[in-house]
Amino acid sequence: MNTFALMRDTWPVGFPAMSAILGSIVGSFLGVVAERVPGMVMEEEGSSNLLFPASHCPVCQHTLAAWENIPLVSWLVLRGRCRSCHTAIPLRIFLIELFSALFFGITAWCMPDVQALFSLWLLAAFLLPLTMIDWRYQLLPDCLTQPLLWAGLLLHAFDHRLPLRDALFGAVAGYLSLWLLYWAFRLTTGREGLGYGDFKLLAALGAWCGWQSLPVLELVAALSGIVGYFTLFNLNKNNLTISFGPYLSFAGIVVFISQQFAFIF
Ligand SMILES: [Zn+2]
Repeated sequence: MNTFALMRDTWPVGFPAMSAILGSIVGSFLGVVAERVPGMVMEEEGSSNLLFPASHCPVCQHTLAAWENIPLVSWLVLRGRCRSCHTAIPLRIFLIELFSALFFGITAWCMPDVQALFSLWLLAAFLLPLTMIDWRYQLLPDCLTQPLLWAGLLLHAFDHRLPLRDALFGAVAGYLSLWLLYWAFRLTTGREGLGYGDFKLLAALGAWCGWQSLPVLELVAALSGIVGYFTLFNLNKNNLTISFGPYLSFAGIVVFISQQFAFIF
């Protein structure tokens, strides 16, 4: 029995619970990434970065005290409002912390081994802010998609679940497949159906999952995209913006998790 299985068997509740707490802290940071990166990308001069200025209310500039920065708890205690000016703190701040906490807790409980668990957490830590940013701004910043691609290649260079060659071909094929689709769509309809950020994101997921998984990954992304599109269309017909990044991210997570189990059994 490996150390990981031993640890989980010794603390069947404690280990997932600790992971969930870690997840809420990571989620809190990912919320900052999702809030600040679009501004950092779109502004000419970088007036803010991930560490500066300290967390503050964007309306009244009130700097948050340490106790107002506790993941999940602070939002609930403050009832989703700034302590100083009572402006609503967006629900998405709370939801990303909650989602991360649940995701870390559940995966800590069910993933087959510690390498699979930590690499999945790393993947999710990129995909979660990418999803939030693409959803709101139709933007997949290079400063997130590119490190994600390198991380995928490095993962397979050190942990030999996939031959490095499969990861490399995955990155190239991922990019090219959407690039070809983009031009086929553009030449036949004269419109742009995808953005370059989508190609880079699929290149990154190809590096993580290998070229063999791309057809399944794209199928899952397309099907969930269709379901998502019609759901949103029924909810809000007037203000419908389409981003593909969230569906690619969802498909990437699904495929990566299923691969971890296939490699074990
Ligand atoms: Zn305020």
